Amino acid sequence: MSVAPSPAAGPYDVLFEPIRIGPKVAKNRLAISPHANGMGMTWPRAYRSLWDVRGEGGWGILSTEICMIHPTSDAQPSPDVQLWDDDDLRELAAVFAIAHGHGALAAVELGHLGMQASNNYSREGPIGPSALPHMYPVPVEVRAMDTADIATFRRWHRAAAVRAVEAGADIVYVYAAHAIGLPMQFLCRRFNQRTDHYGGSLANRARLLRELVEDTKDAVGEKAAVALRFSVDEMLGADGLEADGEGRVVVEMLADLPDLWSVNVSDWANDSPTSRFAKEGAQEPFIDFVRGVTSKPVMGVGRFTSPDAMAGQLRRGVLDIIACARPAIADPFIPAKIRAGDADHIRECIGCNICISADFAGVPLRCTQNPTIGEEWRRGWHPERIDPKAVDEPVLVVGGGPAGLEAALALARRGHEVHLADARRTLGGRVTLESRLPGLAEWARVRDHRVQQLQTLPNVRIYLDSPVDADMAVEFGAPHVAVATGACWRRDGVGRAGYVPLPGADAAHVLTPDDLLAGRCGEGAVVVYDDDHYYLGALLAEQLASQGRAVIYATPEPLVSAWTVNTMEQPRIQRRLHEAGVRIELNRRLVSIEPDRVQLACTYSDRIVARRAETVVLLTGRLPAGDLYAQLRAHGSLMTVQRIGDAANPGTIAAAVYAGHRFARELGATADPVGFRRERRV
Ligand code: ADP
Ligand code: SF4
Repeated sequence: MSVAPSPAAGPYDVLFEPIRIGPKVAKNRLAISPHANGMGMTWPRAYRSLWDVRGEGGWGILSTEICMIHPTSDAQPSPDVQLWDDDDLRELAAVFAIAHGHGALAAVELGHLGMQASNNYSREGPIGPSALPHMYPVPVEVRAMDTADIATFRRWHRAAAVRAVEAGADIVYVYAAHAIGLPMQFLCRRFNQRTDHYGGSLANRARLLRELVEDTKDAVGEKAAVALRFSVDEMLGADGLEADGEGRVVVEMLADLPDLWSVNVSDWANDSPTSRFAKEGAQEPFIDFVRGVTSKPVMGVGRFTSPDAMAGQLRRGVLDIIACARPAIADPFIPAKIRAGDADHIRECIGCNICISADFAGVPLRCTQNPTIGEEWRRGWHPERIDPKAVDEPVLVVGGGPAGLEAALALARRGHEVHLADARRTLGGRVTLESRLPGLAEWARVRDHRVQQLQTLPNVRIYLDSPVDADMAVEFGAPHVAVATGACWRRDGVGRAGYVPLPGADAAHVLTPDDLLAGRCGEGAVVVYDDDHYYLGALLAEQLASQGRAVIYATPEPLVSAWTVNTMEQPRIQRRLHEAGVRIELNRRLVSIEPDRVQLACTYSDRIVARRAETVVLLTGRLPAGDLYAQLRAHGSLMTVQRIGDAANPGTIAAAVYAGHRFARELGATADPVGFRRERRV
């Protein structure tokens, strides 16, 4: 497959061997996997800047996310790209030109969401293989496509392929993955209940997919390669496609038809699990057969952040091309860093899926590890470059959690003299504590990457075991102070379910996550009350249960860890609690705490139930820790006093990193009422 091996010799050179894909040649084996990015055509300037940064980062192939081929498929409120008509050409031509400017191939993932299309924007009725309820719980039924509809659908797909090539695409994908792509829905027995020659046998159910690949090859000719993105296993056992069943047979049936196989597992939550539930390279056992079936190159994903793992996949013959989505979000410069011998400087993805929550919210990408993603255009932030300092005086950063570490690093890169003090003996703040919990080890990368980078910079001094009070901060002599002192869990029980203190919350047997993370866990039967709704409540309940405690998890929401639907972990987390033997009480509001029991009220009926509780763990809210900020403001002698991260707004680790980075970027800048550019369409 290799056309011109790299002259240099090194452990990772295999990643930089060019590779032929149909009529095109990619300059290396590192590709951006098609992935949702919350930008698409809704935020076109942001999108172009993302492509530009990635091109500069050295990827051999840049790609769009699913590019909708027709108005019968939109994903709103998730922004998407479209090739509905010739009017859409311009936008894609612009990003493809950016890829070419960097010597990368430009790929477009043509797709149709079929029975999962929201069509919130187009208001078209969704279509699919059979007349069935929509895949989302919405009051809509899917219209079964008749053979005339299928012929029309093929024409839309062909027309989009022609437009894609006209826009400059080098690789045109046919998308049959994640149970989202219409041709995959035709493949799946549970969705395809047809009795004509597009239903029944696997050959019939695969007919549309084969036709689309053939149509696309015919439409693009020698101007582009045709890739097939296909989920070989749905992780549904015999109810779905399986890598040792129909999934494999489909690959065998179409083996050399596409120019490139891009293979994964389905659905999206299985393709992109958080690090709590899957580690790097977890898809290998499912996809490793593909290369033995086809003579065409095979591309795959696996949240690869380690060059050793990437090179190993190529050397062991598992894959020909490494595709990255989340690793490239966390560090768009992975190829450039490996190439330059700077692999140690890669900012590794921690597998938290905060990036996915941005797409669900319909806003540009955000990332725990990379505060600049999505900000390339609107704030002009580059992931590897930062303006020199605008003021000369030294800066004191108090608190070495995610906010303080990121602030210190970005300030130091600007050339500031930086002093970073933390009360504890270890840096990392909450990340250090939480990464010790089961499954969260990779979260320590937030700390480790920054500490390692800080150690390479001569203009940073770190003071551990150094609690800072207002007098010390003033006397220290740095006129700019960032207060990054974090937050504490509330002990009064005030939360969103009531906004008032809980009777009995001041008792000795009532704990917060801060106590548990410090090693206290009380005794006897425990009620964990989760009015926070992210990962921590359920994780602590699971941990307590694993220690043999009788645990009740109670929440006012109808789901365990309700917010984690945004990170696609929610079903897994709830299942874990069941498996751990935790009793789950949903729609329950905590109303009072007594010495050996709690009173819980149904959030709908107000009916009260009592539950035994010798220990109560409250996750109701967090408050900024200490009063250093207020005291420094009152002192009035410093040029800058700014609280950042949890010390201002207790929230996600991603928000704290972003706040730290923003402080560093903006120190000495003229105040701007908005602070970023907006995309204007008039
Ligand atoms: P964030 O997520 O906003 O960075 P964290 O709670 O993770 O917040 O980190 C805050 C850090 O600040 C902790 O490591 C804590 O030890 C440190 N800290 C809190 N108060 C002080 C103080 N007065 N002096 C020095 N360090 C402090
Ligand atoms: Fe990785 Fe989390 Fe960043 Fe997504 S948000 S790329 S999962 S670190």
